[in-house]
Amino acid sequence: MNSGIHMACQGNNKIFSMRNINNYSFDGKKAIVRVDFNVPLNDDLQVSDNNRIKGALPTINKIMEDGGSAVLMSHLGRPKGGPEDKFSLRHVVPELEKLSGRKVLFADDCIGDEALEIKKRLKPGDILLLENLRFHDEEKNGDEAFAGKLAEGCDVYVNDAFGTAHRAHASTTIIARFFPDEKLFGFLINSELESMDKVIHDSASPFTAIMGGAKVSDKIQIIDNLLGRVDNLIIGGGMAYTFIKARGGRIGNSLCEEDKLDMALKILESAEEKNVKIYLPSDSVNGDKFDADAKTNVTASDAVEDGWMGLDIGEDTIREYSSVIESSKTLLWNGPMGVFEIEKFSKGTSAVAKAIAEATAKGAFSLIGGGDSVAAINKNKLADKVSYVSTGGGAMLEYMEGKVLPGIAAIRGDE
Ligand code: AMP
Repeated sequence: MNSGIHMACQGNNKIFSMRNINNYSFDGKKAIVRVDFNVPLNDDLQVSDNNRIKGALPTINKIMEDGGSAVLMSHLGRPKGGPEDKFSLRHVVPELEKLSGRKVLFADDCIGDEALEIKKRLKPGDILLLENLRFHDEEKNGDEAFAGKLAEGCDVYVNDAFGTAHRAHASTTIIARFFPDEKLFGFLINSELESMDKVIHDSASPFTAIMGGAKVSDKIQIIDNLLGRVDNLIIGGGMAYTFIKARGGRIGNSLCEEDKLDMALKILESAEEKNVKIYLPSDSVNGDKFDADAKTNVTASDAVEDGWMGLDIGEDTIREYSSVIESSKTLLWNGPMGVFEIEKFSKGTSAVAKAIAEATAKGAFSLIGGGDSVAAINKNKLADKVSYVSTGGGAMLEYMEGKVLPGIAAIRGDE
């Protein structure tokens, strides 16, 4: 797939060609790049976590090294209908200058005369950062005229913001129409797609998916799509109790989606038909309230007493889950095994994170996605001990559900 400047791909019964950043030359070109600089700022409006900026560096560096110039655009936070200083991307400039080792120009508005003038004057090696796209409602509305103004003065469009690839916004999707032949993914999106495709289409067996988190309703589609592909499905977190109740267990005051009991049974039946082994917790650490100073007890997960709620998986479950994980060759993890934000209910989630790292050390491919599992991996300092940590929670879930992401389709040519 990676040979030649154009990649021939088949999609929607038509042949189209796609450029690949690995062998594209930005020499003399002005690239408009959608990055994800939606970074947290501290009270002094300084970047407090620069991981997302680091994630965009390989693409920026490639453009620079080829002899091109880069016009970077992003959103930051959730401004409401106009400019607000606390959401200004100007605050990102010092960190970007530090990490890129280059001076960064800044335009006070992402469209308009000033931005266009700076774009026109850009020389090879220059970086221009545009002000927050979401200061204009047209960004989220996917306005074509607005996208056209962003595109003005640029030769090639690069999308490297995986976290917003599931949104049909002006800068993530619509702008691609202005670059019918000169559009491509950056390195970050490329590696996200590579990792997800490896797991979905090219997984070594045994393939174990670990699903957790609060609600089963959020994960039904991904579970449905995974059932035809995995060997084992491990379920933990609040969502496990809907399954346990559906099977006739007593769950006390644990989280339960009453309207999803039938659905849970259908998932269990479908897994059996497809020879997928489903693992539900056998024991639970329960709390008498959802709080750090809750009293705790441990019971079988299907014998939680009234007045108690299951808030973490117990020791027996940890042992069983760890052993399945450690003998797997492909792992996908989304969602915590318990209320990991509270120390006394975080043991199950940490144990799963460690087991995934162990399996990876023994040669398994592991993909971690979704805000809370990523937070758990980081909390346990295991980010460099797993194969890939996805940068896009919602986007990753939708891709794994088998959905077409507008930002991906726009580049691949089947928008
Ligand atoms: P999600 O966004 O669906 O992945 O859910 C993540 C949230 O689920 C976290 O904030 C956890 O605290 C919460 N969670 C995990 N396990 C439980 C549980 N057993 N009961 C209640 N909430 C839980």
